[in-house]
Order: sequence, then C-alpha cells, then structure tokens
Amino acid sequence: MRGARFRRVVLRRPDLRKPFPERFAERLRGQTVRALTRRGKYLLAELSSREILLIHLGMTGSFRGVINDAPDPHDHVVFEMSSGAVIAFNDPRRFGVMDLVPGGAAEQHAALGRMGPEPLSAGFDGTALAKACAGKRVALKLALLDQRVVAGLGNIYASEALHLAHLSPRQRASSIASRGGAPRDSAHRLAAAIKVVLARAIERQSGPAYRRSRFRVYDREGQPCPTRRCSGSIVRFTQGGRSTFYCPTCQRSS
Ligand SMILES: [Zn+2]
Repeated sequence: MRGARFRRVVLRRPDLRKPFPERFAERLRGQTVRALTRRGKYLLAELSSREILLIHLGMTGSFRGVINDAPDPHDHVVFEMSSGAVIAFNDPRRFGVMDLVPGGAAEQHAALGRMGPEPLSAGFDGTALAKACAGKRVALKLALLDQRVVAGLGNIYASEALHLAHLSPRQRASSIASRGGAPRDSAHRLAAAIKVVLARAIERQSGPAYRRSRFRVYDREGQPCPTRRCSGSIVRFTQGGRSTFYCPTCQRSS
C-alpha cells in the first residue's frame, strides 16, 4: 500500500466494531499512502489528503492480499490500489476499527492522545514504568493493560511479562514505585521483561508456531511452571473480565 493510490475502496458492510466514517470510501479514493506507521495497537496510514487512516485489528482482524478474486465472507473492506494490489481487511469477529482523522490532530485523537510510551523505545524503562504506576491502586496486571501506562501491551503479553519478572499480577501497581514515584527493583525487572517478551514474539511471528507452545503461562492452566527449579503450576483467574495466567509459587508480590 505504501506509495500507492487507492483506486477503489469497497465496503461490504456499514460497520466493524463501530460504523465506518462518513463517506469513507470516497474520502480514500484517489489518495496516496504516504507512510505506514504504528502507535500502540493502531496502524496509521498517512494520506496525501493529510488525513490519517487509523486502523485497529481488534481480536481477529488481519490484512490479506486477494489473489484470483476469491472472496472470503469475512473480507469486510477491500482496497484496490493503483499498483494493482488488492488488499482485504478480514475480520471474523469484527472487533476491528477504521477511522479517518485530520493529520495534525492525530495526537488529539481519543485513542492516541493519552497513550503511554512505546515499550521497545529507549524512553520506556523502569523509571518511566514506576512513574506511570505510582499511586495506582489497581492490580499490576490491569495497569499494564492501561494504554496510558505503556502502549500496545495486550492481555497475553501482560501475563507473560509478569511471569518472566516473577511478579504477581495481583499486587498493587503502586508497589513497583516508592512513595515519591521512584522505581523499585521490581519496576526495572518488569520493564525489561516487557521488552524481552515483545521482542521474542516479534522474532517468532513468521514461524509456524505463532500461537502454539510459545507462551510461558498464557493458556497453560494446570501445566508445570516453566521457571527453572519452580515446582508450581499455572493458575488461571479473571481480572477485569480477562483471563490472567500465572504461577502463584514463583510470582510473588515484591
Ligand atoms: Zn513458578
């Protein structure tokens, strides 16, 4: 899509999680994709109209190149590009979102404006994490899912990072900071663990075992803990409506 023009945009339904923006297809038609970037869980296509096409994949959204014109019932948006490429947004559960926002105002968008640092950036470390968690009475796992604390971390990798850092998902978020907001050792361990689990996930994304047997704790309820010399097993419980997986033996509040 980068560098190509939208020749035609086909919407197969009026909405995904939310309705498409007004005159969505017409506003895209004829525009060139100047750049493709990402912020947190959002993909951003900068257009020659100076608008930004904002895309969230939701739970099950993905893009696929359409070959031989074989449509899938879950291809809800089809982009025909000037390069000849035909790209479909496929989303069986339709939790995805597409929006158009003015370029200069992208950072004021409700979703992007208050977003925290990118976890793999140099700006994200134990000090930044402790500062964001200081005074927060919510559980540490829930703080990690708050996009204002750290951008782009989701339910799976929040559990994974807490396990790698040997921290309990139940402990208060504020416990990783001193009263003054300075980082405790746990904040440094957790920030480092977040970087490690995300970097490993990106490395593995092209491999065959993308979703299978690559998690430390996620979806492993009842299985032995992978921590060396830990005899515990993985427990699942619900936090904020989402499943958390952890080992009560080696993940202690600290
Ligand atoms: Zn363990």
